[in-house]
Amino acid sequence: MKNLLIIISGPSGVGKGTIVRKLLTSGDYALSISCTTRNMREGEVDGKSYFFISKEEFLKAIEENGFLEYSNHFENYYGTPRAFVEKQLETHDVILEIEVNGALQVKESYPDAILIMILPPDVDALRSRLIGRGTESPHEIERRISRMEYELSKKDLYDYAIVNDNLDDCVNRLNNLFKTLKGANI
Ligand code: 5GP
Repeated sequence: MKNLLIIISGPSGVGKGTIVRKLLTSGDYALSISCTTRNMREGEVDGKSYFFISKEEFLKAIEENGFLEYSNHFENYYGTPRAFVEKQLETHDVILEIEVNGALQVKESYPDAILIMILPPDVDALRSRLIGRGTESPHEIERRISRMEYELSKKDLYDYAIVNDNLDDCVNRLNNLFKTLKGANI
């Protein structure tokens, strides 16, 4: 039975991080850890949240074909380490939590990858949440909102779109979907 390569995307603030953490508690999935050139935030751990690397290291890894996909957004590079994911796929279904451009790149090289877009139950409420977080400048807020609109505009290119109206329901729906797909994947 082939293991699944699962890609989860969705706009900032939609709760995809929480959904992924809940999915991981079952022990059925492995999480891909991305490389990034952005600064570490409080509470993050190198090698767990991300592999935090320099721009030079990132560019070298691109040259060496070390990424399954990568993208440059919010002025930083983010990439999925190819060897890490391929190794994990030997034993587990693997989840990638990445943005839309990277997701669509992966789908080109792995047409069997399952693309899931997590949607907010209410786009206006999410917009207000992004504004109301109070941690970002107006310029940053503006950028996050146009990014949200961009991400949502790609939803039709995804295999599945799931509304995060209730966390447990959403996680159950995903677990059931993956079980069904795995059953069909023998
Ligand atoms: P943050 O900086 O808030 O951790 O992440 C910003 C965005 O980068 C999120 O949408 C996240 O899904 C995306 N991201 C994280 N890792 C990767 C990756 O390896 N590749 C791509 N393309 N996007 C990523």
